[in-house]
Amino acid sequence: MIEIANVSKSFGQTQVLRNVSLTVNRSEVVCLIGPSGSGKSTLLRCINFLETYDAGEIRIEGRLVGYTEETPRRRVPNRQLRELRRNVGMVFQHFNLWPHMTALENVAEALVQVRGLPAAEAKSRAEAVLTRVGLAERMHAYPNRLSGGQQQRVAIARVVAMEPHVILFDEPTSALDPELVGEVLQVMRDLAADGMTMVVVTHEMGFAAHVADRVAFLDGGRIVEYGTPTHVFHESAEPRVRQFLQTYH
Ligand code: ATP
Ligand code: MG
Repeated sequence: MIEIANVSKSFGQTQVLRNVSLTVNRSEVVCLIGPSGSGKSTLLRCINFLETYDAGEIRIEGRLVGYTEETPRRRVPNRQLRELRRNVGMVFQHFNLWPHMTALENVAEALVQVRGLPAAEAKSRAEAVLTRVGLAERMHAYPNRLSGGQQQRVAIARVVAMEPHVILFDEPTSALDPELVGEVLQVMRDLAADGMTMVVVTHEMGFAAHVADRVAFLDGGRIVEYGTPTHVFHESAEPRVRQFLQTYH
């Protein structure tokens, strides 16, 4: 599904990804954890080419991300990037809802604009997805009348409604008050149970331990530990992993 092979990236003189390789199979949940500045967001953003990468390859469903097959490092046309991003949804820490639209309009408008659905079809699909994330009662509310957790669920619904093949999450609960984290993680758990392929950058170790199929630990732009949650959380001999996890107990 997603094959990342020997990917490196620098910002100016600073190398932030060093020869990273990672495979995500269909319906798998892979969590990326690690200290601040280790390259988690950068790696995630390379997957949908919000960031370019300097070396190596990323393939989604066999297709090279961002660059043409024929000429090394030549970028694909924007049309192809839009197509990629239709299949690769992304959920950010800050939900970026349109403030002048209701929850329903936020989801439906995205379907009209990005998927080109007729308005009536977009509305009924939006209603179904908002119901799925537990917001049937709040569909007609504007974002400023919703809690942070509800807003993030709208943002997730907006992505899910597009029927992406994979969803990338970058710390989707980090901006939330602690009591609102659980409802968002529950929606993500449900998505995982329904077979969605997900790559999740998170500091929620409980989520990573219970929902991830595989966990990758990044430090200094490298994956320094990788495996099942049991392996990474309980069996790792890597000192950087052990030290990092200690701060969560
Ligand atoms: P955090 O947990 O704090 O979100 P992270 O693991 O997501 O950290 P990244 O955001 O990927 O880390 O950043 C990795 C490194 O790249 C950091 O040193 C950061 O300062 C640097 N970096 C990220 N984006 C840019 C940019 N646009 N320009 C220059 N340097 C950047
Ligand atoms: Mg980050």
